[in-house]
Amino acid sequence: MNCPFCGYEENFAVLKEWRFRFYTVRRVSCPKCGGVFNYYFGVSPTGKRSEFCIRVKPRSKTAT
Ligand SMILES: [Zn+2]
Repeated sequence: MNCPFCGYEENFAVLKEWRFRFYTVRRVSCPKCGGVFNYYFGVSPTGKRSEFCIRVKPRSKTAT
């Protein structure tokens, strides 16, 4: 996984983890830029591997 905001790709802080359908979802905070995103990964019922990121907020400064 890498940060969709700045491209950083190590040592993310996992804030939370849960299941969504066949995915595992991690809410992750980037230590470099402070952006927060949800990282989805899993294998679909058809056997296809899938992973993607959804941006939550660009920086921790940007409250609400
Ligand atoms: Zn980042």
